[in-house]
Amino acid sequence: MGDDRRVALVTGASRGIGAAIAVRLARDGCDVAINWLREKARDNEAEAATVAEQVRAMDVDAICVEADITDRDAVNAMVRRVEEALGPIAVLVSNAGITRDRTLRKLPPEDWDRVLEVNLTGAFNCMRAVVDGMTERGWGRIISISSVVALMGNFGQTNYAASKAGLLGLTKSLAREVALKGVTVNAVAPGFIATEMTAAIPHDVTEQIVATIPMGAMGEPIDVANAVAFLASDEARYITGHVLSVNGGVWM
Ligand code: NAD
Repeated sequence: MGDDRRVALVTGASRGIGAAIAVRLARDGCDVAINWLREKARDNEAEAATVAEQVRAMDVDAICVEADITDRDAVNAMVRRVEEALGPIAVLVSNAGITRDRTLRKLPPEDWDRVLEVNLTGAFNCMRAVVDGMTERGWGRIISISSVVALMGNFGQTNYAASKAGLLGLTKSLAREVALKGVTVNAVAPGFIATEMTAAIPHDVTEQIVATIPMGAMGEPIDVANAVAFLASDEARYITGHVLSVNGGVWM
């Protein structure tokens, strides 16, 4: 893409769907900032570095930026670092997300708070940090990863479903606010995608879920990444406030 190269920031890109999105956007010629979270239990830094290598293999630039998206100062610092290293952010993909599943009656209030904080407020923090630059430059793409459960609800996921449904209201409202400024704001709602998040679901439950999917299988991270790449492209210029389902037909 030469001088037209765009910079994309993908949150939670050290693994799973986020990693697939980072590499897929690189394939379309974006330079990519790979956000990762420091966690005690695993080496996300090394995993992010591996994703960066895969991005650079597409002949574009990559940097890894550590930040907990619930920390506003850290998010603002991350955006400054990305823009210094790669240039203005043209594409934001809010992908980072967590689950803390329990039925509502047993849900510890702190698990309600944390899921809303990461999945919803975290996305807000990132949008807030990049949107002014996008509107000033007259071009931008903001894409958030919601979920099919935002549309249909799910047993044991009141917190998660509320956070992902909240993302849809956030997306549609911001889409209206920036529609005249060349910035589109959309969401992708994946169904059941084979990642570590869904690997945590017991095997028999997974089998029951798959039995309900008309296409008869879970999706792959690349299926979500392809939808994001489309929404990030020039071809999607007239699409805003949209929720794009990638779910094998499990919810229509
Ligand atoms: P995953 O657990 O494999 O990856 C989540 C990523 O988010 C990790 O890199 C993690 O480090 C990062 N993260 C978590 N909290 C963070 C924070 N506070 N700050 C920065 N990064 C943070 O999950 P995944 O399956 O790849 O899911 C990616 C997104 O897709 C999530 O938003 C998830 O809710 C959504 N989603 C997944 C599925 C599915 O079936 N896997 C379905 C629908 C939606």
